[in-house]
Amino acid sequence: MSEGTHRHKVVVIGSGFGGLFGTKALKRADVDVTVIAKTQHHLFQPLLYQVATGILSEGEIAPASRVVLRKQKNAQVLLGEVTDIDLENRTVTSHLLDRVTVTPFDSLIVAAGANQSYFGNDRFAEFAPGMKTIDDALELRGRILGAFEQAELSHDHDERERLLTFVVIGAGPTGVELAGQIAEMSDNTLKGAFRNIDPTEARVILLDAAPAVLPPMGEKLGNAAADRLRKMGVEIQLNAMVVDVDADGLVVKEKDGTERRIEAQCKVWSAGVSASPLGKIIAEQSGAEVDRAGRVKVLPDLTVPGNPNVFVVGDMMAVDGVPGMAQGAIQGSTYAAKAIKAGLAGQSPADRKPFKYFDKGSMATVSRASAVAKVGKLEFSGFFAWLGWLALHLWYIVGYQNRVITLTSWGVTFLTNKRGQMTITEQQVYARTALDALQNSGTKVIPPVHTSSPAALSAPQAAAAAAQPTAPKPEAEKAEKAG
Ligand SMILES: Cc1cc2nc3c(=O)[nH]c(=O)nc-3n(C[C@H](O)[C@H](O)[C@H](O)COP(=O)(O)OP(=O)(O)OC[C@H]3O[C@@H](n4cnc5c(N)ncnc54)[C@H](O)[C@@H]3O)c2cc1C
Repeated sequence: MSEGTHRHKVVVIGSGFGGLFGTKALKRADVDVTVIAKTQHHLFQPLLYQVATGILSEGEIAPASRVVLRKQKNAQVLLGEVTDIDLENRTVTSHLLDRVTVTPFDSLIVAAGANQSYFGNDRFAEFAPGMKTIDDALELRGRILGAFEQAELSHDHDERERLLTFVVIGAGPTGVELAGQIAEMSDNTLKGAFRNIDPTEARVILLDAAPAVLPPMGEKLGNAAADRLRKMGVEIQLNAMVVDVDADGLVVKEKDGTERRIEAQCKVWSAGVSASPLGKIIAEQSGAEVDRAGRVKVLPDLTVPGNPNVFVVGDMMAVDGVPGMAQGAIQGSTYAAKAIKAGLAGQSPADRKPFKYFDKGSMATVSRASAVAKVGKLEFSGFFAWLGWLALHLWYIVGYQNRVITLTSWGVTFLTNKRGQMTITEQQVYARTALDALQNSGTKVIPPVHTSSPAALSAPQAAAAAAQPTAPKPEAEKAEKAG
């Protein structure tokens, strides 16, 4: 902890559930908070699938973090990708384009979340993108609607079938929600909108290597979700492991070892996550362990060995019984903020009570008017679960205006089957591929280097800052691209 004249500096990495809620919990504390995130918005990930399927606009679920925090005078927001954390000198290094910023901290809350995991097959990402960011959701919207557009132009039967086959890989909540929405969109919103194809004939396949749909929610709710999806025409293929993916389809290995191919242009990956590579950086310096998903095995107070003021929360922390869900991140970062405040009031880290997770339950929506929910021992599905799902998601969307607009968009879609966000652009569909191609060709697409010289750095921190390379190739960025 810092002594002397300067205010206690808290750096928060990430502006997701952990980052934002941790920062807000420090609102009245006698600290300066710096939020550093590589996205300028607070993203409500649970509704990304509705952006991908044209129900909501990106602005409704991703307000600008600095606007959300504008009234919190002790907080500032810096845009940048954190590429290094120096626990000894207590600095965080971030990059915006080629600009390098080194920010000192007294306390650190690391909430950089998780990326998509392809279980070692990162080459699948090009053909089966995941859904973790606004970019992903808009690209996916472009891929889904773009496939219908191409099918309308095709006169080849096999090609049309391939274009009108949509495969969602991973039957967790995201996969279930996405498969349900693609089916609803093709059966309702797009019905009658084409002249050469019938969108209602689109084939939606939800597949998973596991033997069940929604495994964490138990057999009863998993079966209820699967039944509802089947009624909507979604094909569910379980015990089916994806072993290869290319531009035109994928290869699936059955439990008995046989392999088969599915021809499909549009594939979505929602099968696994791996924690931010920042976890490994922290683990290496502190001696903490990381689990197979790259999450840091934190101490009972969510810190890492030898660093009582460095908290790792949310999707980056491995704590028994805490799922990778919004509540885990919210409760973890709020706990960290309280611990920092208690420290300022004189509490020793040794006296902290361990973090305790309060399980508020989990939900997944399957289609309009149908969801599954588990709250404690209570399990229910159908219309009332869906109403509960609507209310809960509205409650957690940040900003009064966003809630009103979201409610209106839902009203329009659920009552009329229309969707207000069916626009796609060439950039959304091809930008990622184009950027990768540019980068691989060595073309310089970013301006020259600037290095910040933060006035508040101590001598060792300044030395650490000076040692930073000026135009690095961030490892984290490479990993993110792969996912
Ligand atoms: C599609 C989808 C649907 C989901 N549905 C649900 C649901 O229905 N219910 C539920 O409870 N949970 C759901 N989740 C999970 C939930 O969203 C996460 O558990 C939660 O967001 C984790 O919060 P976090 O703060 O740890 O990470 P995130 O919310 O992912 O935030 C990470 C932040 O870190 C920033 N960041 C990452 N790397 C860096 C870096 N190197 N430098 C700077 N900034 C960085 C990102 O820009 C972001 O701001 C869903 C997740 C997804 C992807």
